Amino acid sequence: MAQQPLAPKSGSPVKLHNFDPEYHGDLNKKDARETEAHLEARLAELQEMLYAQGKYTLLIVLQAMDAGGKDGTIKHVFDSVNPQGVRVTSFKAPTAEELSHDFLWRVHQHTPPKGYIGIFNRSHYEDVLVVRVNKLVPPEIWKERYDHINNFERLLADSGTRILKFFLHISKEEQKERFEERLARPDKHWKFSTGDLPVREQWDEYMDAYEAVLTRCNTDYAPWHIVPSNKKWYRNFIISKTIVETLESMNLAYPDPEQGLDKVVIPD
Ligand code: ATP
Ligand code: MG
Repeated sequence: MAQQPLAPKSGSPVKLHNFDPEYHGDLNKKDARETEAHLEARLAELQEMLYAQGKYTLLIVLQAMDAGGKDGTIKHVFDSVNPQGVRVTSFKAPTAEELSHDFLWRVHQHTPPKGYIGIFNRSHYEDVLVVRVNKLVPPEIWKERYDHINNFERLLADSGTRILKFFLHISKEEQKERFEERLARPDKHWKFSTGDLPVREQWDEYMDAYEAVLTRCNTDYAPWHIVPSNKKWYRNFIISKTIVETLESMNLAYPDPEQGLDKVVIPD
């Protein structure tokens, strides 16, 4: 398979037809799963150090079309980490109170504190995706949001947060298969919503909206990754690998112990 970049160059226009959702490099399922198990063990160690040190933050943003694998990613990639140090926030349609503020108000309340990994299952990007496609606000409003998002992410980055954004890229055919599986399996019925069907009909408009996001909000301090996600095992492997590499680059260390610990005697 010809090499496919994971992260588009900052500033370069993204065309999703150049990114194959089936892509899996030279990897096979068995090797990917084996390596991923090691990566997850390492992720658990690094997360403990992040938590103990309490100095830095990692924010992971997951965006995808329905059935794109956001929930599956959270379930599989983070199943070895200590839940105490991880905060997952799922962003749904805004409440009346949330709508009475600026669009980043609700998001900022959920940014993770120092020492934590925060996972956004959907995010502020919905405000230039579903909002744009369904014309929930006029164009002059959503068009300004790309700059607002970049500035917001810059603030987080300047305040010690590393930001990783993943677009889980599936094909329209793969979505159909996943919906059909949800319909065929009673234990998956709860994951199916007939409300997802009109969204599927707007597939091309969503791809245009995603291309704008991936082009305009792909900064050095908060890069996007386009994760080929038709193969769940490849998706999990790539995301685990990217998170581990990022944490490895963050100067994590256990904090200095108290002085004189070698002389401490625990009384009977
Ligand atoms: P699943 O994929 O498991 O169904 P989900 O993320 O789709 O999970 P739902 O409760 O089905 O969860 O959907 C959340 C809905 O909230 C989505 O349709 C999404 O587009 C919508 N939403 C999120 N943020 C906003 C926003 N800022 N404005 C309008 N709608 C939003
Ligand atoms: Mg849904």
